[in-house]
Amino acid sequence: MKSFKEVIYFLNPIAHLGETKYSIAFPFFASLVVYIISELLGYFIIKNPNNMGTPDVIITFLLVAYFSFRFAIRGGLVAWVMSTVFFAYFIAFRHASTAEKEQAIITASILAFLYLCIGLIIGWLKQTLDGVIYKEKLARIKAEDQTKYLQTVIDQLPLGVAIAEAPSGRIITTNQQMSKMFNSVAQHAGSIAEYGKVKVVSQGRGMREIDWPLTQSLLEGKLIVGKEAVFKNKKNETMDLLISAAPIRDKDNKIITAVTTISDITKQKELEKRKDDFINIASHELKTPLTSAKVFAQILEKRFSSSGDKYTIGIISKINFQLYKLEELIRNLLDVTRIQKGRLPMEKKKFYIRELAEEIVEDLQPISTHELVLDWHSRHLVCADKDRIRQVLTNLVTNAIKYSPDSKKIIISSQVKKDKLKISVRDFGMGIPKEEQKKIFNRFYQVSEHTTFPGLGLGLYISSEIIKEHGGKMQVISEVGNGSTFSFTLPIEEKS
Ligand code: ADP
Repeated sequence: MKSFKEVIYFLNPIAHLGETKYSIAFPFFASLVVYIISELLGYFIIKNPNNMGTPDVIITFLLVAYFSFRFAIRGGLVAWVMSTVFFAYFIAFRHASTAEKEQAIITASILAFLYLCIGLIIGWLKQTLDGVIYKEKLARIKAEDQTKYLQTVIDQLPLGVAIAEAPSGRIITTNQQMSKMFNSVAQHAGSIAEYGKVKVVSQGRGMREIDWPLTQSLLEGKLIVGKEAVFKNKKNETMDLLISAAPIRDKDNKIITAVTTISDITKQKELEKRKDDFINIASHELKTPLTSAKVFAQILEKRFSSSGDKYTIGIISKINFQLYKLEELIRNLLDVTRIQKGRLPMEKKKFYIRELAEEIVEDLQPISTHELVLDWHSRHLVCADKDRIRQVLTNLVTNAIKYSPDSKKIIISSQVKKDKLKISVRDFGMGIPKEEQKKIFNRFYQVSEHTTFPGLGLGLYISSEIIKEHGGKMQVISEVGNGSTFSFTLPIEEKS
């Protein structure tokens, strides 16, 4: 049964469209067999082989047409050669008059020519069709291979990947890691919260879809990089996630799909928390001995101030300066842990910001070789935490002094922008490369060229967080070699 099916399949010319290997042997032997059968039929069944002329013409036509369709031009030509040989044999070995034979030769020649045309045309059509189908098949196989290869690569990635189509949001591809994570997410059936914020977005089975970066990429075309989220279950167990998403557009810029990656960063977060806890505890522990050391240094200072022992007085003031720096360092470290815990206390009061700027210039001018220029013409009342704003402005001015050792001037200015006051500190120092400007507000970040300068890379981080707490934003405009301008805004309470 199977072999019968195989024979039918082999003979069916349509089943072989797209194949580009053409046999010669099969049309040769098949034609030979058909002509032998036709001769035997003529001799033994019909008893007059001369009567086989018309059937042979039809058989030949069928053979040429079939083989040219089954084996292209090659098959058609083999069938045609066989038919020509058979016609020659037919004319040569039949009993007929010379006139009849001459007539038969003319007819056979015309027929042979017609068969040749038929064989060539059908064969050419078959070959063209095969070429097109073969190319398409190749392209399909290539595309399938590429898809398989991509899927393998995606599966091996150590982070969850999902691709969703627009506008339905249906997930069309995920990888193994994503499935693993979603299994645990399903078990966590609870809530997803934006990291660091109290807001908890409740979820049906997952999370509110609109808050997912993937949804935002799909619907609004947003590129979201490294958004942190905490997944919380009902037992309050958490899983920290780092989510990114990007839209994929067609050539008309229409969003067709969006891809998201999710990594489980619970372990890193745990380590980060332990490090923050350590910094917090260490800073608190350091505070007590530091306070005692400061008190003893002050006692010593008082004792020696009237003694006239300049050498000892000099050493004591150096001790005091170092203790002050240590105190500032500890304060910064404590601030960082407070920010991390979302607990940076603010005591907002109304005050004249220009007066604060004047005080800072007065304090810092004696310890700087730069001329601190106050370009401040208005008098505005702001409502802010004065000590914190002092901390910000002092940090900006001391940075300006530190990172412009070869220049002479620093300008502290203010500018009114609608209901806000923009405060800027401009220096003419070394500047910051463009690619590093965004990063300098990250904690512990120092510009690679500036690592020879003392510092921990915390001042700008704390300052920008303080300004954020006041509803403002800190910015920097800088050019390497031409200096930097750091600025921040504060809402104006009233003008006097
Ligand atoms: P640091 O204690 O290292 O100065 P900051 O957070 O205050 O820490 O500053 C972060 C980094 O930004 C610095 O290490 C420095 O590389 C760069 N930076 C800050 N202010 C300036 C400035 N005025 N000019 C050039 N670079 C600056």
